[in-house]
Amino acid sequence: MVDVRSVRKSFGPLEVLRGVDLTVRAGEVTVILGPSGSGKSTLLRTINHLEKVDSGWISIDGELIGYRRAGNKLHELKERDVLKQRTHIGFVFQNFNLFPHLTVLDNLLEAPVSALGRPKKEAEATARRLLDRVGLADKADVYPRQLSGGQQQRVAIARALALEPKVLLFDEPTSALDPELVGEVLDVIKDLARTGTTMIVVTHEIGFAREVADTVVFMDDGTVVEQGPPSAVLDDPQRERTRAFLAKVL
Ligand code: ATP
Ligand code: MG
Repeated sequence: MVDVRSVRKSFGPLEVLRGVDLTVRAGEVTVILGPSGSGKSTLLRTINHLEKVDSGWISIDGELIGYRRAGNKLHELKERDVLKQRTHIGFVFQNFNLFPHLTVLDNLLEAPVSALGRPKKEAEATARRLLDRVGLADKADVYPRQLSGGQQQRVAIARALALEPKVLLFDEPTSALDPELVGEVLDVIKDLARTGTTMIVVTHEIGFAREVADTVVFMDDGTVVEQGPPSAVLDDPQRERTRAFLAKVL
């Protein structure tokens, strides 16, 4: 379970998160919608401590992210411990971010073998199983540049899964893709949803949200304006700002 409590974050004078609360239960899919600049990416980045919160806190399965509690004070974790926490949080970016100089298989082995020291044979078996799962078993030995955008993004998802994360974060995973490649990536994410992977997905794909989300969260101006099941937020929004946004994207 992911808990975000009263999180605030500013960049200089600009307050980008103004007290965000969010709960994502194990096995559930939360889709975050909202206009550009509303703080969606910043929120995802605070969850794996790529951005430090100014106040509030985030925990995953009861473990504080980026801090430890001592009495009623929070002390920041050492970099090494932050990196360890991050291995439990998968992150899939808009632009795939694969290692260009490594083959597909080696992209999946990099973190488990080089960073975590897992036995190579075991990691390779896992990697091949995951490539099969995203429909790319035959691409293990090619380089990212030899793949389409949709295939690259499926590799990125398999790579995120290789560490058996407690939660997977997606930041607009299909918005850099040609329209005809969006479906294959969404299908992989839907398949993960069916098997109970805990996910937070920032996307503008409303159809996907309606079909897959347990909870839809609408953010605007650094706050959660409205949240609930897709049928409530998408079809019967209670807040004017949600209605105005949906009118533009639907
Ligand atoms: P989009 O839909 O365009 O991706 P978003 O909802 O993901 O938008 P964020 O990327 O979280 O929005 O940005 C929220 C605000 O914070 C924006 O005004 C952005 O310019 C600002 N911002 C984000 N990161 C930084 C940073 N590192 N330094 C300064 N300002 C930043
Ligand atoms: Mg963003």
